[in-house]
Amino acid sequence: MNLSQFPRRNYVQDATPIEALPAFSAALGGKVNIFIKRDDLLPGCSGGNKTRKLDFCIADGMEKGADTIITCGAVQSNHARLTLSWAVKEGLDCHLILEERVPGSYKQDGSGNNFLFNLLGVKSTKVVPGGSDMMGEMEKLAEELKKQGKKPYIIPGGASNAIGATGYVACAQEIQQQLFDSGLNIDHMVVPSGSAGTHAGIAVGMYGTNAGIPVSGINVSRKKELQEEIVHKLAVETATRVGMREEIPADQITCFDEYVGPGYSIPTDSMIEAVKLLAQTEAILLDPVYSGKAMAGMVDLVRKDHFAEGSNVLFLHTGGSPALYAYLDTFK
Ligand SMILES: *Cc1c(COP(=O)(O)O)cnc(C)c1O
Repeated sequence: MNLSQFPRRNYVQDATPIEALPAFSAALGGKVNIFIKRDDLLPGCSGGNKTRKLDFCIADGMEKGADTIITCGAVQSNHARLTLSWAVKEGLDCHLILEERVPGSYKQDGSGNNFLFNLLGVKSTKVVPGGSDMMGEMEKLAEELKKQGKKPYIIPGGASNAIGATGYVACAQEIQQQLFDSGLNIDHMVVPSGSAGTHAGIAVGMYGTNAGIPVSGINVSRKKELQEEIVHKLAVETATRVGMREEIPADQITCFDEYVGPGYSIPTDSMIEAVKLLAQTEAILLDPVYSGKAMAGMVDLVRKDHFAEGSNVLFLHTGGSPALYAYLDTFK
């Protein structure tokens, strides 16, 4: 896999840290050694995983002459915040279509990422009901903007196409170099699994280099079977793009759906416990929608002895902490 053949904007200049979590591991009984890959510290306003994907997606848009970026997300979308923030840095206009997946959850003067959309100077936001055809909405807006002489480029939700997922193939390579340099041998990796680009990219990057590090995805919205199918499909496309010769087998994609709770972005007790525990043992902030639920899954898997005693497990922290401020009541 030669990733330097693809245009990128170099948003990721340095490797994000891999840190040991000794106090957090001890609080879970000390059976396994938990490590964390700090992609919450990636550049881009308030950090998070979308920066790695946007590095490639925005480069593709700019190569095609775009002066305007259109993307979509939920009402507290980290992806929308990061797309907007990189558009600001690049001098591009940015328009957002927001999907109100939980009825009544959009608040015009809401906190968290919603506050940042306005602070960062979004060109327009349109809120549509849950289940809307998001690509259709973005294409409609693109047509309107073209009539005004703009050159819009659409980035799909979560930047989860093969272009964006390439950023997480690169992350898997970065992790392997860090593990080699530090002499740390990781037995298992746990990642959040949402719009699927992160999970697919890591799975391709690990499988494609015969790393021998199994990857488990923790779902934030969908059922296990459907999510595994979506991640696998994107992994196959991504593997083809990066030049992997053999097809990635479906059994390389494993998802857990027990930690979603009542639905996407709806708080669960185990999420609240995980967010508080990591904050109070390691002073690292998770988020209520993605990394908090993913960490709740990781905590439960440790408690259920899913990982062999003494294993080294690496959790991918994908960011999202600005959303905490839209959930103050949940943590009271
Ligand atoms: C988008 C997001 C994820 C999920 O990543 P996908 O590539 O969409 O699966 C996880 N954590 C945070 C904080 C996110 O914003």
